[in-house]
Amino acid sequence: MDKTLQSIAQGYLRFRAEFLAESGDFYRSLAEQGQKPRVAIISCSDSRVDPAVITNTKPGEMFVLRNVANLIPERSSETAWGVRAALQFATEVLEVQHFVVCGHSGCGGIQGARRNQVIGPQGQHLEDLSVWLRNLSEKFAPLEEQAKELDPDLQDEFYEKVGIINSLGNLFTFPEIERRVKEGKLHLHGWYFDIKRGELLAYDAPSYGFVSFDTLAKEF
Ligand SMILES: [Zn+2]
Repeated sequence: MDKTLQSIAQGYLRFRAEFLAESGDFYRSLAEQGQKPRVAIISCSDSRVDPAVITNTKPGEMFVLRNVANLIPERSSETAWGVRAALQFATEVLEVQHFVVCGHSGCGGIQGARRNQVIGPQGQHLEDLSVWLRNLSEKFAPLEEQAKELDPDLQDEFYEKVGIINSLGNLFTFPEIERRVKEGKLHLHGWYFDIKRGELLAYDAPSYGFVSFDTLAKEF
C-alpha cells in the first residue's frame, strides 16, 4: 500500500480502537439525538487550518463549511449555490446562534484572487479556480492603492483580512442571515488564524481591525 494511504488507514485503526474502548457511547448518542451544533464556521480548505483542531471541539459542536479562501460569495452570484445551501441548512434547520468566518495566513486562494487569473505550476490556466476567486478579485481591485502603501510582507495579510470582512459583509445578502442578525438570534464573527504563531485574531467591527483573540477568549 502506498505510504500516504497507509498513514491514513493506521489513523482510522487508532480511531476505531478508541471508538471501541472509549468514545462509542458518545458517537451512539450523537447518532440517536442528531446534530445540534450552536456554531457554524466557514474556513479555507487549506489542510493546515482545521477549525475543530484550532478550537479543540468535538464532533457535533460545529457545523463546518470549507472552500477555497473561506469565501461567502454574494447570494446572487452564480457560484454561490453550495454556500447558499449550507447557510440555509445552518440557519433554518440547525438554527445556529453563531457564524464564524475564519481566514488564515499564507492563503493560496487569496493570492490567486490578487492575480485575478490563477496559473498552475506548469503554467496552466486554472479556470474553475479563477472564476471562483473572481468573487474576491473584484473586491480587491479598488484596494490596490491602499495595499501598495504597506510593506510587501504585510500585503497578503491585508488581503486575507479583507477577504474575511468581505465574506462577513456578503452574509447580509442572504435574507435568512440578515433577519436573524437583526432579531439578535445570530451573531457573526471574523477570525484570522496565523499558522506560524498558532494564534487567532478576531475582527473588531468598530475599529475595522483585528484584535488578539487570546484576551477575548478568557472573557467569555
Ligand atoms: Zn486559504
